[in-house]
Amino acid sequence: MRITVLAGGVGGARFVRGVRELDAEVSVVVNTGDDLWLTGLRVCPDLDSIMYALAGVSDTERGWGRAGETERISAELAEWGLGWPWFTLGDLDLATHIARTSLLREGLRLTEVTERLSARWPLGVRLLPATDDEVETHVVTADGQDLHFEEWWVRTRAAAAARRFVQRGVERAHATPEALAAIADADVVLLAPSNPVVSIGTILGLPGIRSALRDTEAPVVGVSPIIGGAVVRGMADACLATIGVGTDAAAVARHYGARRDGGLLDGWLVDDADAASVAGLRGSGFAADATGLWMTDAAESARIARAALALVSR
Ligand code: GDP
Ligand code: CA
Repeated sequence: MRITVLAGGVGGARFVRGVRELDAEVSVVVNTGDDLWLTGLRVCPDLDSIMYALAGVSDTERGWGRAGETERISAELAEWGLGWPWFTLGDLDLATHIARTSLLREGLRLTEVTERLSARWPLGVRLLPATDDEVETHVVTADGQDLHFEEWWVRTRAAAAARRFVQRGVERAHATPEALAAIADADVVLLAPSNPVVSIGTILGLPGIRSALRDTEAPVVGVSPIIGGAVVRGMADACLATIGVGTDAAAVARHYGARRDGGLLDGWLVDDADAASVAGLRGSGFAADATGLWMTDAAESARIARAALALVSR
């Protein structure tokens, strides 16, 4: 079986840790909207979150970056008056960005670079950036600032309300042929419980992705990142509010839409806490069910992935 997952960073990584335990060939189309240039280095936060988590080298306490990390280079850059006081990059992590940037400078596409980097470990899945083009998510705040998403999220902790999100460069961009083929050739497409706006939404905004999802014969099933009216982790509610969607599992499903009505989803899995919404979702054209959605370890994530598959295999 071929499974293609659409994913952002941390929620995506936790989910994919489970999906790779299934007996399947797994491709992961990863959000690149958070990518940024920092002092000449290309940083890809979501790709690296997934790569490190699958390689078993991520810092599970902090929830991001590498385990056993040091910050000597950042400290030294600060002495030069350079660096990014709001975006901590450890030494091991910086080596990743140096390696990536040097391969990009040699002319490789981000897809090829990602393949080269992830060949270091047996990740058990194929990581596919959603696009090789530089399309960066910017936030226009209610008080008129225009910030890179990571700056808004990490430096300001989303303090200023977002008026809208902009995919800068999207008019000239394309989804990669590899990502489109992974969607077209899949037996099932899963939307990870990732941020619906700036992770999944950003992937969907790339030219080619929505029509690939519409055209694929594979059923498309999503797992809710919202449990009991709250985000499990992070500030995704701030993003949902900006696009006028409630922090509610069923509201997110309706935002993606039922495929029979021209939307994206054949199925939607909610947490037991949201079981009351299942009947309404079924009535609106979604194959829906409730189960525990806390991804506490890889075995739990695998169980959740199986429950998502079961929704469309009946
Ligand atoms: P980011 O790119 O690092 O922000 O990560 P993602 O976009 O992949 O995922 C962020 C989302 O993951 C948040 O909206 C969380 O609610 C969701 N999330 C994190 N952990 C869990 C979990 O254990 N269960 C579920 N259902 N969602 C989770
Ligand atoms: Ca992200």
